Amino acid sequence: MLVNDDIHTLSMAVSGIVAAPGSPGFAEETFAYNAATVHRPDVVLGAADAQDVAAGVGWAAERRLPVSVQSTGHGADSAVDGGLLINTRRLQELKIDPVERTARVGAGVKWRSVLEASVPHGLIGLHGSSTDVGVVGYTVGGGLPVLGRAHGFAADHVRSMEVVTADGALRRIDAEAEAELFALMCGGKGNFGIVTALEFSLFPLGEFYGGGIIYPGADAALILAAFRGWLATLPDAAAPSISLLRLPDLEFVPAPLRGQFVVHLRFAFLGNREDGDALLAPMRAVSTPLMDTAGPMSYLDVDQIHMDPPDPLPFTDGGALLKDFGEEAAGELLRLAGDGTDCPLLLIEIRPLGGALSRGGVLPDAVSGRDAAFLLFLLGFKMPPVAEAVTGSIRAILAALAPYSTGYTLVNFHGEPGDEADRARAWSPAVYERMRAAKASYDPGNLLRFGHAITGAPAAG
Ligand SMILES: Cc1cc2nc3c(=O)[nH]c(=O)nc-3n(C[C@H](O)[C@H](O)[C@H](O)COP(=O)(O)OP(=O)(O)OC[C@H]3O[C@@H](n4cnc5c(N)ncnc54)[C@H](O)[C@@H]3O)c2cc1C
Repeated sequence: MLVNDDIHTLSMAVSGIVAAPGSPGFAEETFAYNAATVHRPDVVLGAADAQDVAAGVGWAAERRLPVSVQSTGHGADSAVDGGLLINTRRLQELKIDPVERTARVGAGVKWRSVLEASVPHGLIGLHGSSTDVGVVGYTVGGGLPVLGRAHGFAADHVRSMEVVTADGALRRIDAEAEAELFALMCGGKGNFGIVTALEFSLFPLGEFYGGGIIYPGADAALILAAFRGWLATLPDAAAPSISLLRLPDLEFVPAPLRGQFVVHLRFAFLGNREDGDALLAPMRAVSTPLMDTAGPMSYLDVDQIHMDPPDPLPFTDGGALLKDFGEEAAGELLRLAGDGTDCPLLLIEIRPLGGALSRGGVLPDAVSGRDAAFLLFLLGFKMPPVAEAVTGSIRAILAALAPYSTGYTLVNFHGEPGDEADRARAWSPAVYERMRAAKASYDPGNLLRFGHAITGAPAAG
């Protein structure tokens, strides 16, 4: 049990904020974007720099206290209970090297800041659907980018990282220095240490075309059928996805769409208006859109493609990798969540994978899903009176689509971590075994044991 002296010792060892439950700063430092998750660590450290992170982990290791990490709380799939929570949001270092085409970011930097600094140089990073997400948490989870079919997973393009391992040591790792740890940190989530800084490749940005088309939900069957056929006509430079949305009556939803069931086609394309319009033409003709925002776009408006909620919300989610999304699978989905059903989910998303996502990076990393054709992702409010129905609906849809699934997930879209067998589904069996071996050597005391945590392999002999 922690006593005041322990907390005082930590305060003296760091320059950031240290707060116990009930003391000033505790609520701010533990708050998560996923407002359904309320973290209850024994103590929280709002780290001011990498040395604070190292001092915090070392302090916890001496006391055998578990350690967790948060920057934005977008990935707060489960609550932290006890131990030390390290908040990295103040680690705001950000450097763009336009010649080498790299970015170096501290662990608190969000994707929006990277783009604001890189786009003026004609460069972009491989962010996901919302640029409010933290670069580090997203990337250690593999990072499925909007432009993944063109460039691959974000984790495929990490150059180096600085990480505090469970012994409190701050290490710089890359493909040569501690290559296995580096490979497993690129996709293995926060299982082996707390990243303090990350260096990764940027990609040239030419003309950019993007936006969304919103159709009436009543046409969902027609639109999904057209979508499936249309995919085969697209180059890897085009990144489409489609979702069934039951839009709440909230401010972030455009006024005419509030409270409606709609289908949302999202489209990002590295190309010009003429080619973008030509690629989208078949989908523009399939039904009468309620809204069509697709066209040439400033890259800094990229969040308008997916229109993820900008403000914190209480939610729960779940996902699965699919081998295919053919007529039968689409039929099952519509049976449970189509027009006329009482499906309580806010969002049901189908993201096509393939292209560079299936090819892998230059170096071996811990990303899963290269063999999958689609990602299915389900999300709903986790609050009364719908919370129970939402959980039930996520389970029912995942079960109905299980015959079309690879059986695995992406850790960033896994949803609430369950038992060990459930958590293991975020990696291939081969990668999972490598992770278990690495866990046993880098975190033998199992300090990093929250969230999508794995258990180390038993010591040999
Ligand atoms: C609106 C929204 C859109 C999203 N879109 C996408 C998408 O398009 N593609 C995609 O791949 N994912 C997406 N995600 C999932 C997102 O990438 C994960 O939730 C990710 O964990 C968020 O990272 P964070 O640091 O912002 O969140 P946090 O909740 O702060 O962190 C989540 C977890 O990341 C790990 N982590 C965070 N910081 C560190 C660190 N310094 N060192 C080691 N581990 C760390 C820890 O395991 C931590 O528990 C989305 C999530 C939301 C809510």
